[in-house]
Parts: sequence; structure tokens; C-alpha cells
Amino acid sequence: MLAGNWKMNKTPSEAQSFANTLMNALAGFNSFDIYIAPVFVALDRVQEVINSSNIKLAAQNMYFEDNGAFTGEVSPKMLKELGVEAVIIGHSERRKIFGETDELINKKVKKALKEGLTPIFCIGETLEEREKGLTFCVLEKQVREGLYGISAEEVKKVVIAYEPVWAIGTGVVATPQQAQEAHEFVRKLLGQIYGEEVAQSVTILYGGSVTPENFFGLFVKRDIDGALVGGASLKESFVELAKIMSKIIC
Ligand code: PEP
Repeated sequence: MLAGNWKMNKTPSEAQSFANTLMNALAGFNSFDIYIAPVFVALDRVQEVINSSNIKLAAQNMYFEDNGAFTGEVSPKMLKELGVEAVIIGHSERRKIFGETDELINKKVKKALKEGLTPIFCIGETLEEREKGLTFCVLEKQVREGLYGISAEEVKKVVIAYEPVWAIGTGVVATPQQAQEAHEFVRKLLGQIYGEEVAQSVTILYGGSVTPENFFGLFVKRDIDGALVGGASLKESFVELAKIMSKIIC
């Protein structure tokens, strides 16, 4: 899977126009899933553009209720009506800036699954945690709490994005070895919780300063099944990433 997180960038008309560029450039890339996640207010217009293409629509967040007094929030039912198929949950910016906890993230992951949306569930350690040798401990807590109460059948539909916080938007990418080590740890943990067959079937993406220059080395690693891309998804470089993926897969 290749997923573009546009974050709070592009107005609806800019998003529509860039979606059109991507739709033309990415036609024919059918050996993996391609998602783009524009801002909420651009979902409708982007969906009109990519409707019958190979690009799928994702949202950057959602709430775990259907409707009601939750000012500023958006429900999965609302997203589905716009053609959204996946939703990013627990992005480190949501955790850090908006105070999202593992408990809240767990509710969102469960709700997304219940509604048939693919949760792109983000985990990752800060630089301080890595330097203190806490990386695996942090990842284990985030995985166990984020997936609490989710069955083996359901977890196969979850996409996990390992995004070391120190690599997001910083230009400092994890080395392929660092990323593989974390992915392998997460897959082994899934194996302990859900069994080996389930663990092997879960898609685990890497995210954090992915560019066409560093992507090959990451994507060839055994436990890296694709990427969640921020900055490089806002430009034509997203197409370059798709080309690299398709070469490696074929
Ligand atoms: C992200 O926001 O999920 C991300 C990985 O950002 P960037 O690629 O810009 O580091």
C-alpha cells in the first residue's frame, strides 16, 4: 500500500486539481493499493475526480460516534457517504498536538472496523524514547492498547503504520535497518497476540520522511509493506514512489 497523507495542505480546488494530476499519472498502477488523504473539506471534490480510478480515498481522522454533540468532529458514516474507504487513526500529530490517547485511538480503530473502513493505525516512538532505549516498549504499549479487544479476524483488516516521530516531516529518515527492526518487532508481537498466520497477513507501512531517494532501500525490507507519506505525497514525487513500488513488486 502507498498512502499519501496531505495533512492540512491544499484548498479544495487545489486538492481537486492535484488529484486530477495523480489520477492521470497513476493510471495502470494496479499491483498495490494507492490511497490519498486530503483534508475533510476536500474529500467530496477529490472523490469526484478519482471515483472510477485506481486511487482510493482516505480521511485523516474520524470520531468514534455516529452523530451528536461533538463539535468539530466527523463520523465514519459521514465519511463513507463521501466514498472514503480508509482512515488514518492515531497519527503522531493527533497524539501530540491534540492529546489523543491510546484509549481514544482504540475506540476509533474499533469503530472504523465496525463501519467497514480500513484503519491506518499509526504508532511510533519519539527521539527521546529511542535514545533511552524504549522504542520496543513504546511500540508494544501502543499496539496492545490500540488493538485492545480487536479479534484476529478483524486485525487482518487493520493497516499499521510505523512512523517514528523523529522522522516525521524532519527529513531524517529511519535507516532501512532501523525500520525493518521495528516492523519485525511489531509483526512478532502480532504473532504472539494473534498467531503467526494473522501476523503475516497484516500490512505494516513505514512513514517518516520517505522520498524517492530513500524509498527503495526501505521497501525491499521483508516486513515493510509500503509507505505512509506526508511531504512527498504533495508533489509529483508521489508518482515516483509508486513507480519504485511497482518495480519492486513485479
Ligand atoms: C506523515 O505525516 O505521516 C509523514 C510520514 O510525513 P512525512 O512523510 O512528511 O515525514
